[in-house]
Amino acid sequence: MTSPGPRPLRPRLPSPLQPLDDAPFARRGVRLVLKRDDLIHPDLPGNKWRKLAPNLRAAAEAGDRTLLTFGGAYSNHLRATAAAGRLLGFATIGVVRGDELAGAPLNWSLARCAADGMRLHFTDRATYRRKAEPEVLAALRARFGAFRVIPEGGSNSLAAQGCSELGRELRGQADTVAVACGTGGTLAGLAAGLGPGQRALGVPVLKGGSPHFLHDTVAGLQQAAFGGVRGDWSLAEGFDCGGYARSTPELDAFADAFEQRHGLPVERVYVAKLLFALTALAGRGAFPPGSTVAAVVTGTP
Ligand SMILES: *Cc1c(COP(=O)(O)O)cnc(C)c1O
Repeated sequence: MTSPGPRPLRPRLPSPLQPLDDAPFARRGVRLVLKRDDLIHPDLPGNKWRKLAPNLRAAAEAGDRTLLTFGGAYSNHLRATAAAGRLLGFATIGVVRGDELAGAPLNWSLARCAADGMRLHFTDRATYRRKAEPEVLAALRARFGAFRVIPEGGSNSLAAQGCSELGRELRGQADTVAVACGTGGTLAGLAAGLGPGQRALGVPVLKGGSPHFLHDTVAGLQQAAFGGVRGDWSLAEGFDCGGYARSTPELDAFADAFEQRHGLPVERVYVAKLLFALTALAGRGAFPPGSTVAAVVTGTP
């Protein structure tokens, strides 16, 4: 007998490791490998699958039927949540930053969310900043009824636990494992899952407000997920190129040249900055000759 339940997500795990012969690294005697998390799932690529999967399991076990989460106008996390809702049979609500978007035609990313059945709710930036406060959530409950909240970027303790599997998959495969950071949940989990002697390096893509904000966020997520700070991790500052979704002519030229050299499309908001940072660090001799650097490819263009 077949049950009428939702289809499983069927991720491709562990994600493949791809060695890449890249001159700026080879010149320094450093081996570069790509951890292709972008190939985990066509609709929930990369760290978004790793972060959402344990949250979806918890929602199903609790009997929650509706998920509510938050994101900007081009949020990968909103698209991944909407796709998961469609595939697993959850209703989804996306609270979108920017009430000026309310009357306008949907951009491609929000149109994808809507096509996957997500109800979109646009909110002004001041309210969006207060989204974790009880009054704001109470107003959303009054409007939409009961829901399970998944935080912005999907980063909570379950997400960090999910991403620790990324670290475990990389044990024995690299000396340094680097990942681009938005909300920090992926780095928190990755660092916790790596083995002894391995270090994790996070490359922030947002312009840092206070210099220690992301550091404290990652430490806080590790505390909540694992009961304490775990693993050897640090942040490589100075590669945000002007902030979230911003670029510079230098970053664009780098990403274009990387794509040309390897015939590999590079996601520009996160992955381009990660590879740009690693290339600059390799050029400064930051990685010992004979060592291996793994770059986590967290998304697709
Ligand atoms: C969301 C996202 C990240 C950032 O992950 P965090 O856990 O928020 O730090 C990195 N890369 C891609 C492609 C993403 O979509």
